[in-house]
Amino acid sequence: MNIELDLKDQAWAAAAVETVRRIATDFREEIRACERNGRFPAEAFAEMGQQGLIGVITPVEFGGYGGDAPEYCLTTEAMARYNLVSSQIQIQGQRWLVDWGTPEQKARYLPGLISGSLIFSESISERTAASSLKALKSTARRDGGDWIINGEKIHINLGKESHVTLVYAMAEEGLTAFLVDTDLAGVRRAHSNPLGGRLLPTADMEFDNVRIPASAVLGEPGQGLATFLSTFNVSRLGNASELLGAAQRALSDATDYARERQVGTNRVTDFQGIQWLIADGYSQLYAASLVRDRAANLVAAGKEHAFEASLAKKVAIEAAEKVINDVFSLVGGHGLYHDQPYGQILFDIKTLRVGGGSLEVLRNYVSQQILRSDVLKGLK
Ligand SMILES: Cc1cc2nc3c(=O)[nH]c(=O)nc-3n(C[C@H](O)[C@H](O)[C@H](O)COP(=O)(O)OP(=O)(O)OC[C@H]3O[C@@H](n4cnc5c(N)ncnc54)[C@H](O)[C@@H]3O)c2cc1C
Repeated sequence: MNIELDLKDQAWAAAAVETVRRIATDFREEIRACERNGRFPAEAFAEMGQQGLIGVITPVEFGGYGGDAPEYCLTTEAMARYNLVSSQIQIQGQRWLVDWGTPEQKARYLPGLISGSLIFSESISERTAASSLKALKSTARRDGGDWIINGEKIHINLGKESHVTLVYAMAEEGLTAFLVDTDLAGVRRAHSNPLGGRLLPTADMEFDNVRIPASAVLGEPGQGLATFLSTFNVSRLGNASELLGAAQRALSDATDYARERQVGTNRVTDFQGIQWLIADGYSQLYAASLVRDRAANLVAAGKEHAFEASLAKKVAIEAAEKVINDVFSLVGGHGLYHDQPYGQILFDIKTLRVGGGSLEVLRNYVSQQILRSDVLKGLK
């Protein structure tokens, strides 16, 4: 629901959404099979790359479209709305490289990340640490001019499919990010079987004395937290957009069904209780879209946006959870089957609720900002 995104070019935006819809339609059966089997739809993703949908916010000088957060939100939401695989992680990888990469790292990885021929993953979470980066146990030690990485990561989207993964590990200098090619000796990975986000299969990853050159450090040794924080506000807007797109799909499909479904002499949508659910769900998605749009516009204008980005993801989670909870009242028993989309959307929304800043973490941050600043004065 793009209401107020400051897009650079409306014609480009309309064409991009139409291309997402077209690819989702062309690959519908393949996407469904991938979702059932927890498989990455590589062909659809390659087509998205061909059509310029993966490099939307990477600058033109590196081969991208050169958009900003509004274009990113628009396309990411459309991918969720039409149930195409998300490019969110791949875009996150490009942003890390554009902001922190050396010229050699950019030249090596960006073209493939933009075209989709090179798959990216981010290896942060561990069995005993995810919400708390300080508790990560993976290590990086120097050996001559190289680094040796050891550790285990879990829940890594595209861990098994990726050609390069950004590993966060503790070095003597502190938390450090490393670009690790996944074909190196000592990298082991095995699929896990998540309930949500099944088009981006997760993997458990093991890094067993993996030797990488000094040139694989992203930023400087000890700058891990800075590299992490630099991209996470915008990635929260990507998550918010995925939540909004997924919930719109659920509400739209369920309303279409309820409009036709006969219950005695009525259609389901004749009941006022059902009409109110549709009104409430739509209102929450509309309001959450406005918050997301404002945050994206602040990013594009180069203004402070940390508070608004967290607020955007928080209200998107709340809106999406409300909608996916209520659509089961619209679709009744018909919706409670695997060949219907609602169960999968429910798990997708629950997954987006946890990763990249959980609802609890966002509530902590938003309340802290309110208590520390004059935000509430505007309400007096
Ligand atoms: C399908 C899936 C895909 C994922 N993909 C990736 C990936 O690609 N790369 C990657 O590195 N990680 C990935 N993750 C991991 C994800 O980022 C973590 O699950 C998330 O950071 C939360 O960590 P945790 O699950 O260990 O929860 P914990 O840190 O154990 O937290 C448990 C609960 O406590 C809550 N909590 C935590 N801190 C507070 C607090 N201060 N106050 C109140 N409540 C709190 C959390 O919100 C959560 O609900 C993925 C996870 C899933 C399920």
